[in-house]
Amino acid sequence: MNTREIFFRHQGQTSAFPLAMEIERAEGLYLYGREGRRWLDLISGIAVSNMGHGHPRIVAAVQEQAARHMHTMVYGELIQSPQTAFAAKLLPLLPASLNNIYYVNSGSEAVEGALKLAKRFTGRTELIGFNQSYHGSTHGAISIGGTEAWKAAFRPLLPDVRNLDYGVVDQLSAISGRTAAVLIEPVQAESGVTLPPKGYLEALRSRCAETGALLIFDESQTGCGRTGTFLALEHSGVVPDILVMAKAFGGGMPLGAFIASQDVMKVLTCDPVLGHITTFGGHPLSCAAGLAALTAMLEEERMAQVPKLEAQFRDTLKHPAIKALRSCGLLMALELERAEKTQAVIAAALDAGLLTDWFLYAPHCVRIAPPLTITPDEVSWACARLLECLDKDG
Ligand code: PMP
Repeated sequence: MNTREIFFRHQGQTSAFPLAMEIERAEGLYLYGREGRRWLDLISGIAVSNMGHGHPRIVAAVQEQAARHMHTMVYGELIQSPQTAFAAKLLPLLPASLNNIYYVNSGSEAVEGALKLAKRFTGRTELIGFNQSYHGSTHGAISIGGTEAWKAAFRPLLPDVRNLDYGVVDQLSAISGRTAAVLIEPVQAESGVTLPPKGYLEALRSRCAETGALLIFDESQTGCGRTGTFLALEHSGVVPDILVMAKAFGGGMPLGAFIASQDVMKVLTCDPVLGHITTFGGHPLSCAAGLAALTAMLEEERMAQVPKLEAQFRDTLKHPAIKALRSCGLLMALELERAEKTQAVIAAALDAGLLTDWFLYAPHCVRIAPPLTITPDEVSWACARLLECLDKDG
């Protein structure tokens, strides 16, 4: 059996049309396949590889930590220096009230923890999320996000969940004294990069404060410098009660976190004890990688480059087939007329050596979210290829 047969016959498939290139190694902006083929990574493994692939500092940190120790004990029992060192580096970058970090393994798991925390803290049951938000694939995460088409096959899901339309101020009156939490992305990614209207997040913050509902921001995709600031919440200045981090947070290793004030977080400590636990949460290798990625991003001053790179994409990507280009930093969606055209562009781009993608709830949009380490020359090259692909019929 060759590797293709094993992949298709013996690995669970997420769709009937995986990309299925065989990757031998990855370095910097590029993924390398067989026979010398390479692809410029325009999507960062879906907002993960913010510092590119194989960054020497991240690789060294993982190797050093692996030699020192890997897993020792379930999360929360032992003091492990990769976790504490990462927390110390992270805290000055967070709003002061978000001072208590609960490490987990992934975005979905961080969302589950955040929802449980809000229910436990408020003693309420209702959860509010937004149509076309993606927060993960676990039962809780799909209950609160998504679209009905996506959820229907998995019902019954969590009870007492409501979904509002993203960005519609009038609907915020649905948040009430029954609401435990409102979960939102400060920029909605999988709908094809939807920016909140001006004043919307502020209105949401006020409504949550009025009703005592906890506000949760999911910055899994928007965090870690992707939008040009460490967190996307810095664009509005709105501070949530709980923050969800994942994806780029682990520097390419699996890591997530939900972060709150110590006052809020401490309700998970008792009644029941061990009411939220995880074996591998805050894995030493993941925290070492996350710390190295964050340190490198700050020292290389990557966030300061983001607005210039975003502007270069915006200025260069002009084509009659592009209906809109929505962006927040290096999280961008090229909206085309039809999903078929988007699929054709993605396929042509792959042939031309460029890895792009679509969005879960916006199949007519091309995803552009390259590592923050992309250079202006690489932006020019990628845009020239994309424009050629857009010229082709499809
Ligand atoms: N939240 C958001 C905003 C996401 O984009 C994702 C993943 N695409 C998740 C949560 C879930 O993260 P994970 O796949 O690590 O569970």
